[in-house]
Amino acid sequence: MARYGMVIDTRRCVGCMDCVVACKTEHGVPEGYCRDWITETVMGESPNLRMEIRTERCNHCANPPCVYCCPTGASHVHERGGVVLVTANMCIGCKACLAACPYDARFIHPDGYADKCTFCIHRVEKGLDPACVAVCPTRCMHFGDLDDPESEVSRLLRTRASHSLLPEAGTDPSIFYLT
Ligand code: SF4
Ligand code: SF4
Repeated sequence: MARYGMVIDTRRCVGCMDCVVACKTEHGVPEGYCRDWITETVMGESPNLRMEIRTERCNHCANPPCVYCCPTGASHVHERGGVVLVTANMCIGCKACLAACPYDARFIHPDGYADKCTFCIHRVEKGLDPACVAVCPTRCMHFGDLDDPESEVSRLLRTRASHSLLPEAGTDPSIFYLT
């Protein structure tokens, strides 16, 4: 079974926010909400400091607390690639998943359901990359099957140093940042 994930090269990302705009357009994300965003973190110790610019979103965790805590089954793991999704008409807007997610990746849509990144599964099922990956002008984002040793994402993880976000949370994220 595939495990979809992203490998993002922080040395190439310039923080242009094209990914954020593409996501908002692709999904009609309401004003004031975002399914993805840019963060800037200063890393290292003086005088050897560097700034990491990251495009962030739901990590489609393999051990997802948002799914475990959902009382209705609205939050679930999709059979395709282990993508974590929300079935809007099963969601009662209780916000348990918002509290459970250590990445603050979810919000309550003005229509009353929990919303977040879907890895653009509707595009992936047509053989396309997620919208954010497709528009990135520096090509810093790569999407593919982490379980396939021949995939580009697996090859990048073999050849470059990387980290994921909050590994101590035990969520087993599916997004990795090349350093
Ligand atoms: Fe759930 Fe948050 Fe992990 Fe996404 S990042 S799967 S919303 S716990
Ligand atoms: Fe489940 Fe919706 Fe409650 Fe989140 S807000 S835990 S998706 S019912």
